[in-house]
Formats: sequence, C-alpha cells, structure tokens
Amino acid sequence: MTIIMDEEIRTTESMYEFVRTRESRARTYADRFHRVFERGSGARLFDTEGREYLDCLAVAGTLALGHNHPYVAKAVGRFLESGAVQQALDLTTPAKHDFLKALYACLPTGFAEHARVQFCGPTGADAVEAALKLFKTATGRRTVFSFSGAYHGMTNGALALTGNLSAKQEVAGLMADVHFLPYPYSYRCPFGIGPAGAQTSLEYINRLLSDPESGISKPAALIVEAVQGEGGVIPAPLDWLRGLREITAAHDVPMIVDEVQTGFGRTGHMFAFEAAGIEPDAVLLSKAIGGGYPLSVVLYHEKYDRWQAGAHAGTFRGNQMAMVAGTAVMEVLFEQDLVEAAKDKGEFLRAALTDLALKHPEVGDLRGRGLMWGLEIVDPRSERDARLGSRRADGVRARAIQQRCLDLGLILETGGRHGAVVRLLPPLIISFSELARVVSILDRALTETAA
Ligand code: PMP
Repeated sequence: MTIIMDEEIRTTESMYEFVRTRESRARTYADRFHRVFERGSGARLFDTEGREYLDCLAVAGTLALGHNHPYVAKAVGRFLESGAVQQALDLTTPAKHDFLKALYACLPTGFAEHARVQFCGPTGADAVEAALKLFKTATGRRTVFSFSGAYHGMTNGALALTGNLSAKQEVAGLMADVHFLPYPYSYRCPFGIGPAGAQTSLEYINRLLSDPESGISKPAALIVEAVQGEGGVIPAPLDWLRGLREITAAHDVPMIVDEVQTGFGRTGHMFAFEAAGIEPDAVLLSKAIGGGYPLSVVLYHEKYDRWQAGAHAGTFRGNQMAMVAGTAVMEVLFEQDLVEAAKDKGEFLRAALTDLALKHPEVGDLRGRGLMWGLEIVDPRSERDARLGSRRADGVRARAIQQRCLDLGLILETGGRHGAVVRLLPPLIISFSELARVVSILDRALTETAA
C-alpha cells in the first residue's frame, strides 16, 4: 500500500474537503479562506485554480520580506545542503552565533548592552510563558498586569493575559492573578472621554500602584503591546508609552513589551517601542525574526537573569533554519532600508485610507502605523455613543468585506472588538503600486457589501 496514491486526482475541492473534514473545529483561517493555496512570491499568493491574491495577512504579519524572498530562499537552500546541524537544542552553532550578532545589532544600543536572550520553543506564546516565569522568579511576586484588548497567545499563561473573552470563557483554571488595565483606545475610550483617556489611564495605573488598599499586590511584571494588533490595530500614544515607562520604573515594576507582531520594522521602526524613545525591561520577539520559520526569544535586562539552568527548557528552541532565515531577513532589512521604507509606505496608506474612510461611512475609525493598519467597521445607521460619537461595531460587515476582498484578489485579516476591524499587515517589500491596488480593492469591497 502506498500512502499517497499517484493516480489519485487532487482537485481543489477534494483537497479542501479532505482537510476540512479531518481538521479540528478550532481551525481558523482555513474556514475563512475557502481556497487551496499553492505558491507564493513576494506580496502575492496563488491558489490551485491559478488565481492571484495580494497577501496582506502574510502569515499574521510574519513575512517581512514576503513569500519566497530569493535572498532568504538561497540562504536556507545553502544551509540545508551544507551538512550543518539542523536542530541543536540550545547548543552553540555558527548559525546561532550569526543570528545573535545580527539581532543584537538591531536592538537599541542601550538595551543591547545589558540584554540577555532566552530562546523559546518556538512560538510567540512560548516567549510570553518564558517571560512570566522569568519575572515571577526574579521578583518573587505573583501577580501580572496586562491590558484590555491585549493579545499575547493561546497557551495557559498567555491566554490569561489576553483580553478577548471568547477564547477564555470555556477554559477553566487559567493562570490566576492577572489584572487588566485600561488601554488608550480613544474611539471606544474605557473612560468615555476620548483621547484624554490616555492620561486618565496613566493616572489610574499610578494611583493603583500607590494605593496600599488597592486590593492588588505589586506585579511581577506589566506586559504591553506598543500597538495592539489582534486587539484591532490600536497604536498607543507615544506620550502614554513614555508615561507608562516612568510609572513602572518608579514603582519597580518590570515592563515587558510584546513585539511579536510589531517587531522587525512593521511600524516604521525596528521595534514599535522605539518611536516613544523608551527602554523596556524585556522585549518579546517571534514571527518575523525567524524569516518565516518558527522562532521566538525573550530579551531582557541582565539584572533579572536570576532563574535556574533549565528553567525554560524545550526541545525545539534551536531552530537553526529559522536562525539562518532570520539572519538573512535582517541583512535585507538593513541593506534595503526597509524599515524607513515602511514609514513612507505607511504615509501613503494613511493618505489613501483617509480618502477611503471619507467616502465610506462604514469606516468608523482608521488607525495604524507603518505597515500595520486597521479600519474599524461600524453600522453607519446605528446611534452614536453619546459621549464618544462612536457607532456600533459591525463584525458581520467586516467579515463580508473580508470575503469580498478574497474574491477580488486580496487577503486580509479581521480583529478587534466583535471582529469588526479590517486589518492590513502586508510584507514590508510590498510596492507602492501594490498598495494602491490593495486600497482600490478595499474600496470596491466596501461599496459592494453596502446594505
Ligand atoms: N503576542 C502578540 C502581540 C501576537 O500578535 C501574537 C500572535 N498573533 C502572539 C503574541 C502569539 O504568537 P504565536 O501565535 O506565535 O504563539
């Protein structure tokens, strides 16, 4: 018996159905994108029917250089054929040395000088788990602060830190002692006061940490995204990030910045926190750093390096191929100045999407930085919030826009409250003309899905 029968006819539908009827109900993207994807090149994906798509999902923001970048592909090909070890636990190898050299060159100098690195295994969520253990050990404290709307992953600790209740409420026994703070989300400001809510949020956090009867003991760490991604593309004001850094430093609370989605140029800075000129105590990285292969790290100030050998062991923490691919990505980012280019492309998108938002009343709010944008879709006929002027989030319409875009050759993500934010996370190598096409497809999809 052969396992894959040569004579078997693999039609698009038979492949899709074979997989669909075997995969868990918990699968996500495959149900939304009813296609079989076969090839990828740059910012483009191709399905088995020969249709072409602009890929503004890019493996949830992973592919900084797009699909099959020739420089990365060559580096990986050479490495595969070189006889070099391919998996190595956390042993020292030339690939690891080169990766770390490049990674440390990408870090802000002050942070790099004192940074220790822990390789995790090998998804973003595991970097979160590692950071939780590290800071609980180093501080001897047990509570953790996170923010409403945050997304940190799907494992026990990471999910406990995540805002979205739908993934949490079925699961009993998540990590205890997590306290959620208000994130500066002006459009749906938790204090009902709009942009001024950012200052109020800082005030609240500061007073909470100072109050001996707040009911919450001092946390082992505070974890924050400089731009909330899955939460609906919500960039924190830079003043707010600076204020948060000041407060956490004053109260001796380690500040972890989760750059899993925003790292490596996505926001027009190498790391999103750099726009605020702050230095966190720890930075979490995954997605883009492995050049499309699984890899994650926690970088942290050496003064917290107080855990025991083996405190975060794991078999697949030495993904050599990911290190080789990640090194190649960093080389291209630098050589082609792609981080600066992400800023320019971001300004192009800001202008084009602002025009779009003016045309379509369904776009309640437009937010973004660099190559990370979100359009919050609302019901234009719903009543405005009396204090904020925001309208009811329309997740159904956002999903319809996503489906229409798919038919028109554009793959994009949704997220945010009620899934109502249409999100763009294109590869950094996307061209201006491709971006113009993204906007024109979105324009058409918005028009064609109008009620
Ligand atoms: N943190 C952030 C900010 C993320 O966006 C994600 C993934 N979207 C994660 C953590 C979890 O990463 P992973 O899916 O690789 O576990």
